[in-house]
Amino acid sequence: MAGCTKAIYNYNISKMRTITISSKAQNFITTNLISILQKQHHSTQFVPEFQPIQTEDVQKLQYFVSDAKQMFVMTGAGISTESGIPDYRSEGVGLYARSTNRPVQYQDYVKSSTIRQRYWARNYVAWPRWSSTQPNQTHKTLADWENEGKIHWLVTQNVDSLHFKAGSKNLTELHGSTYRIMCLGCDNMFPRTQLQDMIAAENPNWSAASAEHAPDGDVALSPEQVAGFKVPNCNKCGGTLKPDITFFGDNVARDKVSFVFNKLEECDSVLVLGSSLQVYSGYRFLMRAAEQRKPIGIVNIGSTRADHLANVMVKAKCSDVLARIDCTDSIHWT
Ligand SMILES: [Zn+2]
Repeated sequence: MAGCTKAIYNYNISKMRTITISSKAQNFITTNLISILQKQHHSTQFVPEFQPIQTEDVQKLQYFVSDAKQMFVMTGAGISTESGIPDYRSEGVGLYARSTNRPVQYQDYVKSSTIRQRYWARNYVAWPRWSSTQPNQTHKTLADWENEGKIHWLVTQNVDSLHFKAGSKNLTELHGSTYRIMCLGCDNMFPRTQLQDMIAAENPNWSAASAEHAPDGDVALSPEQVAGFKVPNCNKCGGTLKPDITFFGDNVARDKVSFVFNKLEECDSVLVLGSSLQVYSGYRFLMRAAEQRKPIGIVNIGSTRADHLANVMVKAKCSDVLARIDCTDSIHWT
């Protein structure tokens, strides 16, 4: 659990133990407090340790947002950790720190039916929980900023579709979405929910459970658990199905990259939220923005690959900062 959250948790627990009231009232309060703390734990267990927000940082970011008319916003895994989705790289709480499991590589997925069997068995088990995740305050704020005309285009590196669920429309899911399935053999594309039914129909007697969840809707299962699991093929051509996401080792489609570059061209500033920008597919847009001398703002708990390019750098939890920003404020030069 993150350090700050842990402090609050311990404080609440110690307070709870020192209250002297009737046992009935105490039971009521205890039950509710535990429920609140469990919810709090669920929403912050994958958020890395963070420092309290500084007033000066809020002012700097407010000035940046007020000065922008057509913002290009790029988001990463850091904004979804508060929805209970772990990221890959955060110290202590990211997948790489907690587990030896690593995301599937594109070439391995395409070449090996054993890897596809393991992938889909795990994904099938993870889907009910994964698909029930909800947008948090940051996703909702960005949808509001779009409605206010502040955001011209939103690009996310996340595959969880939480921006879509929050109502953002001017949106590119750079690495795709786990909510769509595509066929490698034809142009068949259909919702992930449909695949869940297809898998259930082919595996009527198969079931497994796991406690660990990963950033892309994955869970850990043993080889014994996976044995016997049947993977459905495309019902149009019999080809191999794949989630419509960019696996590690694969590239984002060229037309999608040029589309995003065009959107970047139309914008007057760039704001990065919750991304370390370690992956080149997102970082390249920051390099282009710097070449075009567009102002760059970054809000992220840890350091990023583009810190040296940023005009405004705020090291904090995104929801803490955005809640204090008024997107309707604007600076009028006279
Ligand atoms: Zn097909």
